[in-house]
Amino acid sequence: MPEVKMETKNLNLWYGEKQALYDITMPIYKNKITALIGPSGCGKSTFLRCLNRLNDLIENVRIEGEVLLDGKNIYDEDVDVYELRKRVGMVFQKPNPFAMSIYDNVAFGPRIHGVKDKKELDKIVKWALKKAALWDEVKDELHKNAFALSGGQQQRLCIARAIAVKPEVLLMDEPTSALDPISTLKIEELMVELAKDYTIVVVTHNMQQASRVSDYTAFFLMGKLIEFGETEQIFLNPQKKETDDYIRGRFG
Ligand code: ADP
Ligand code: MG
Repeated sequence: MPEVKMETKNLNLWYGEKQALYDITMPIYKNKITALIGPSGCGKSTFLRCLNRLNDLIENVRIEGEVLLDGKNIYDEDVDVYELRKRVGMVFQKPNPFAMSIYDNVAFGPRIHGVKDKKELDKIVKWALKKAALWDEVKDELHKNAFALSGGQQQRLCIARAIAVKPEVLLMDEPTSALDPISTLKIEELMVELAKDYTIVVVTHNMQQASRVSDYTAFFLMGKLIEFGETEQIFLNPQKKETDDYIRGRFG
């Protein structure tokens, strides 16, 4: 078994009166890609946001249980949430570059975390853009506004921005659902490449994507984790009827 990087233990979450996650206990393995699948509204994004405390920003959220990162509960009182979000980064569904240059987008995080030296920033920006498979396309126009890029390029820029602070875990919420098939394939290749250095958790609507890129798959239904296992097992030999129904497209 690979090393456990993160782990949730009996995680429950309520939005006001409404419970959205029920008793989720699940490992997230180091340097592996874990896909979260399930019909719309089953709690995938909610679960993902628990992993770097983005739900803290939503009013009336109540969380019970534990989310461990290297064995330490990220909901402990002594946890610095900014430091946590540096270790556990997020890429969203719609590319959301900041209204600034390509360079400044990538340099944003490192600057916040105290990198001021121009040479050092140049180095990080180049490294992150290369990692995100965008460098060759933008190296001559780093000072152009990020909005001038195509959707697929913008999403790779957001990935570069996320990895520029050298996170350990990368969370991705349907990162390709707003992209064309070619950009989607590029991002999928990139995820597989990034998993050599990072632990990745990706929400996807796309069964083919989950089976193409992920090592482990978690199937959620109405706030519950129905089944978790190696991706091949989940798709070829699901143990629960609900999983079987879902992957065969009988609902959702
Ligand atoms: P998924 O990502 O699988 O589509 P979500 O995690 O977005 O599902 O939503 C799970 C449930 O929680 C849904 O019933 C949704 O309506 C509810 N929910 C999500 N976000 C909020 C919120 N900010 N406030 C209240 N309810 C929410
Ligand atoms: Mg969602």
